Amino acid sequence: MSAGDLAPWASDPARSRGRRIAEPPAPPRNVHQRDRDRIVHSTAFRRLVYKTQVFINHQGDLFRTRLTHSLEVAQLGRSAARALRLNEDLVEGIALAHDLGHAPFGHAGQDALQACMAAHGGFEHNLQSLRVVDALEIRYPAFDGLNLSFETREGILKHCSPSNARRLVAAEPDGPAQRFISGTQPSLEAQLVNLSDAMAYNAHDIDDGLRAGLITLAQLNAVPLFDRWRLSVLADFPALAAQPNRRLLFETLRRLLSAQVQDLVATTAAALAEHRPADSDAARALPPLVRFSPGLHAQNAELKRFLFSALYRHPQVTQSTDLARTMVSELYAAYIARPDEMPADYAAAAKLPRSVADYIAGMTDRYAQREHHRLTGRRLFAD
Ligand code: MG
Repeated sequence: MSAGDLAPWASDPARSRGRRIAEPPAPPRNVHQRDRDRIVHSTAFRRLVYKTQVFINHQGDLFRTRLTHSLEVAQLGRSAARALRLNEDLVEGIALAHDLGHAPFGHAGQDALQACMAAHGGFEHNLQSLRVVDALEIRYPAFDGLNLSFETREGILKHCSPSNARRLVAAEPDGPAQRFISGTQPSLEAQLVNLSDAMAYNAHDIDDGLRAGLITLAQLNAVPLFDRWRLSVLADFPALAAQPNRRLLFETLRRLLSAQVQDLVATTAAALAEHRPADSDAARALPPLVRFSPGLHAQNAELKRFLFSALYRHPQVTQSTDLARTMVSELYAAYIARPDEMPADYAAAAKLPRSVADYIAGMTDRYAQREHHRLTGRRLFAD
């Protein structure tokens, strides 16, 4: 996509705020294409394939992992970005990097690390994703991290607590945490990735939850957003009503996702036409312009509430996440007591306990399990 194809309010790579350490351009790639490529080649990105989204990675081969989730977010984001003439490459880079900082075992791992680090600056996965691309990836001779552009880093830092924002801003006054102090928005591309994230997990968690047998189609029929599209599929293919089958589910989810992207594009295009920001910075100063219609927003919230109570809080899910929480807490205690069990660059006492959190956060689910077994002699998960 050339700059001429971008809307005036899109993030123009030629006008990037740049990298923290200046680098010569690398034609034919622009700054955001290069960021995306650096993310794809990073070690943390490859680890996403063995990290839990909702289901623990070893529980089945067909469930989403953080990697396939990130690819689905990128796909949805790119579709909408193209329709809105936003910067697709920037959207893709943010989407592929947005979960790089997630601890093993999904939110359970993050909660456990948060508790362990409560007295030491805490642990936030968005902040950790930024830490991965700013510091923890060791690949380049001249700098730590990937030295990504401001716009990609801004998109990665989706949330940030006020105390962490103040700390980050003190170190980098014009950095991506500044907006949490000034109360402005991130780029439209970053806003789009946030909603693409929600679209992706709402749809794929339905699929994974049904596949796992933890939720049923009958339950979902009571969720209006799902039922509306299920009925539309049955109107076109009445034979699918005969028995529950995957074609009905997949076609329902396909229509649900298409309808969400179409609603988002139409609603956002209308908001942009109304506000007409002069450029990407003008869009940052406005309220969030990338949005769903109020009706779809409410239906999405209802679907999310359903997934929360029926799936994320399902006894079978919470049982394995309780074990995961125990495992991460015990790993943390073991490394704090015996830092030499970590690689030398993590073991340096001056960096404790942050380096323990960094080391554990980088682990895949199965590596965490192996390390836990090695250090404690116990196996928490049955094979
Ligand atoms: Mg995500």
